[in-house]
Amino acid sequence: MSVLKETRFIMDKYHISANKNLGQNFLIDDETVLGIVNVANISKDDLVIEIGPGLGTLTKELLERAGQVTCIELDKRMIEILQDRFSMYNNFELINNDVLKVDLKEIIKKSNLANTKIVANLPYYITTPIIMKLLEERLEIQTITVMIQKEVADRLITKPGTGDTGAITYAINYYSEPKRVLEVPNTAFIPEPKVNSSVIQLQILKEPKVKVEDEAKLFDLIKTAFMQKRKTLVNGLANSNKYGTKEQIEQALTNLNIDLKIRPEKLALEQFAELSKVL
Ligand code: SAM
Repeated sequence: MSVLKETRFIMDKYHISANKNLGQNFLIDDETVLGIVNVANISKDDLVIEIGPGLGTLTKELLERAGQVTCIELDKRMIEILQDRFSMYNNFELINNDVLKVDLKEIIKKSNLANTKIVANLPYYITTPIIMKLLEERLEIQTITVMIQKEVADRLITKPGTGDTGAITYAINYYSEPKRVLEVPNTAFIPEPKVNSSVIQLQILKEPKVKVEDEAKLFDLIKTAFMQKRKTLVNGLANSNKYGTKEQIEQALTNLNIDLKIRPEKLALEQFAELSKVL
């Protein structure tokens, strides 16, 4: 049965309509489903953590390939469906909770499989907090393969210092090697979202790309700079009153050979790292 037919069948059987508040857009395109699981490169040596399994469209494919699939789903209605569909698989585990509240470290510690991979068609209303949680908790994971809004993907995979970036671009590039792996039109979902989507894959680095002693300071500096993105870096930081006087900030930039008129999005990750050491 095609994914579209299966989705319609399940939605009818359980009288399900998508809950917009939970970011529910169900995948209905066979090619996209296979595209995601293929690119995630899952084997029986892998624990897969799936965030927001919904009706279980990706889950079904993941269960066939992975050693273990642990799904985290907030919507109770989905829990009943997922249990009915997959309780006969002995590599299936289901957690009914908000992913932001789940102790992922504990799940990974419990597993005796060689690798852990995250796969998800993420709820778009909390894409950023979820990705930041996955990165900042320094989980022992190999890859994160997630569907997100195309515009957000553009910002996440852009190289820091090259234009349309945000504070999160630097975090992504600090912890991982990001790439876009699939473009997905809005017609691949029920209901159709207003925007197109992309699947991105983050290859988690064993060591962060730059070395700093105070990681928290580096990220605070970046966030502070991006709070006033339209201002020059000097003015943005000076206005925050956290990183010294305007003259001190200018002196630090001069010592690092950085243009005094530079805007935050033009700084490379390495330059922010150097700046965080001297400010
Ligand atoms: N994986 C399914 C698919 O591809 O068709 C559904 C994807 S849908 C975009 C996002 C899913 O995340 C929904 O099932 C929704 O209920 C779930 N969700 C929303 N907020 C969540 C949260 N805080 N924690 C866990 N799951 C959540």
